[in-house]
Amino acid sequence: MNLKNKVLLTFVAMGASLALGSPAAFAKDINVVTSTDFYGEVAQAVLGKHGKVTSIISSPNVDPHDYEPTTKTAKTVSKADIVLYNGLGYDTWIEKLGGKKQIDIASDVMHAKDGDNEHLWYNSKTMAKTATYLANQYGKIDPKNKAEFKKNAANYEKKLTKLSTTLAQIKKNSDNKKVAVSEPVFEYALDDMGYSIANDHFAKAIEDGGDPSFSDIKKLQDDIKKKKIVFFVNNTQADSKVIKNLVDLCKKNNVPVVNVTETLPAKQNYISWMQSEYNQVLKIQEN
Ligand SMILES: [Zn+2]
Repeated sequence: MNLKNKVLLTFVAMGASLALGSPAAFAKDINVVTSTDFYGEVAQAVLGKHGKVTSIISSPNVDPHDYEPTTKTAKTVSKADIVLYNGLGYDTWIEKLGGKKQIDIASDVMHAKDGDNEHLWYNSKTMAKTATYLANQYGKIDPKNKAEFKKNAANYEKKLTKLSTTLAQIKKNSDNKKVAVSEPVFEYALDDMGYSIANDHFAKAIEDGGDPSFSDIKKLQDDIKKKKIVFFVNNTQADSKVIKNLVDLCKKNNVPVVNVTETLPAKQNYISWMQSEYNQVLKIQEN
């Protein structure tokens, strides 16, 4: 490095430290890290322009159930002002990585109990409650913008009411009818819609990565052939020969299949993603 550059760099560094040294004049930008992108969306919506949100898992090709953090991820999380994650054992890896303040949505926001279904983002109340919770937490770090965080949360919650309206509309015609699922991913939504699940035991085995028992498969095949279920919910991100055969059997017997995903598909946002899955159920009811 020549002397001229060195002098220039020193000057820039001095300017930077001067800027950092006057907190009264600069509101603090909040640095948020979330485990998945669907939580990144609500985090950013509430934060607005007062900081930045980084989502560690932001690709539909990564399965959060068996994600392992890299060194780079560990660094990113440890520097965060707020670390937002699902909890219930879903993204345990993030808990060990620190950050100034960790928010476990399951226990802090939803007051869920051990053993509850971990796919909380399918619960219609989770995002709205998370938005309110985040507005308060952001307000503690950056009190000057507290009112704005609250307004941002209210705006996001308003957008979410579209989803509740669709769920209520579906519930009018569900009559507590039975449906079957490939995995427990969509259960909260089915609950809100007023459907009951015919094959919990089977679904749990698939999610745990094991094989469902022969008798569970046989019962499900019978339910499909005798049309005891009104539709079958298939998590298209999972890959299983047993499920593929059941989907084929549904098609053969004119049992509708609702395609859902565990995580946010490419080019969608949380609301459009949920809406497109709910719409499949609405369409089945209309037929
Ligand atoms: Zn899952």
